[in-house]
Amino acid sequence: MTYNFKDIKSLTVDELKEWLSANCEKTYRADQIENWLFCQQVSSYDQMKNIPQQTRDKLSKAFAIRSLTEVQHLVSVDGAVKWLFRTADDHYIETVLIPTNGRFSVCVSTQIGCAMNCAFCRTAKMGFIRNLEAGEILEEIIRVNDYLKETGEINADGKQAQVTNIIFMGMGEPLNNLENVHRTCCTLHNQKLFNLGRKKMTVSTSGVVPKIKELVDRNTPCCLAVSLNSTNNEARGSVMPVNKIWPIEKLLEATDEYSRRTDNYVTFEFVLMKDVTCTPAAAKELIRICAPRRVKVNAIVLNAMDDPNLEAPTQEDVDSFLEKVRAANIQITIRNPRGRDIFAACGQLAYKKQQKVANADTESA
Ligand code: SF4
Repeated sequence: MTYNFKDIKSLTVDELKEWLSANCEKTYRADQIENWLFCQQVSSYDQMKNIPQQTRDKLSKAFAIRSLTEVQHLVSVDGAVKWLFRTADDHYIETVLIPTNGRFSVCVSTQIGCAMNCAFCRTAKMGFIRNLEAGEILEEIIRVNDYLKETGEINADGKQAQVTNIIFMGMGEPLNNLENVHRTCCTLHNQKLFNLGRKKMTVSTSGVVPKIKELVDRNTPCCLAVSLNSTNNEARGSVMPVNKIWPIEKLLEATDEYSRRTDNYVTFEFVLMKDVTCTPAAAKELIRICAPRRVKVNAIVLNAMDDPNLEAPTQEDVDSFLEKVRAANIQITIRNPRGRDIFAACGQLAYKKQQKVANADTESA
């Protein structure tokens, strides 16, 4: 059996068992190996003391144990931490830790760059480079756990803090890398490893409709969030090209099916943009869409960026929008932007780094 990836951390425990069986090794070794990788965080097969040498030799010929190289980490005045990591093939990705009242949420990247081209997003400006392997996504979380250990962070029970929540909302469209996102969620959900419950992991999509159905078919252990951002096709299509392929009606059909089949609510992410999505008409439309559905709305004010066509709304406009939606009994929370002093929005640091590398290459050419 061959896999099209090289990092052993990309295999689920079942896949590792299959591989061991196919290679005449004891399948119970899979749990031991995964414990070394994810709990002891070893970086070489030689450190796996209870694994026989011949098994280690076979493993090392089949799979590498890869890690990410930390290029930079920045700590915000509000406690958020952002990492810039370099992959083994010299690309840059970002990971953000958002500590909140004993919860340690991590926003992970799932792709290097992104093909979805949303107007309000810096990652989009990088274009799409490649999907991250499951091992690379897991490594983002492992590195944050390392940081929590090093800094002696304590959780609500007074014990060593660990990552408690995962949001697949960093660089990339997670559903365009569903295979690896699914594999990542399975490993995170594994009780012997990260032991994160289904409700502790949220996959956020720009609206790749067929993949929402696939997420349900695969029974991926996660919740679903959708970047709705606008309530009419013209406005949504103007900032999110995905809407031209799968308009709002199709998206809502898919999220309705998700809710029905998983018996779970969907979170609609809603970026408030001056004169585009933060208007009385948009509030009315949002109410029309949400009222008959089992949804929560998570609003966030547009982050400052270079696009001259988009602006953040005034606080007065935001308050008026929230008031209207709440008056209709729709559950809406406003997410406080965290880490703006450290470029915590998706892609800002990696884009800058990529530009620097590109400029240096041009100068030295
Ligand atoms: S917002 Fe998300 S889906 Fe849209 S371009 Fe950025 S990374 Fe991709």
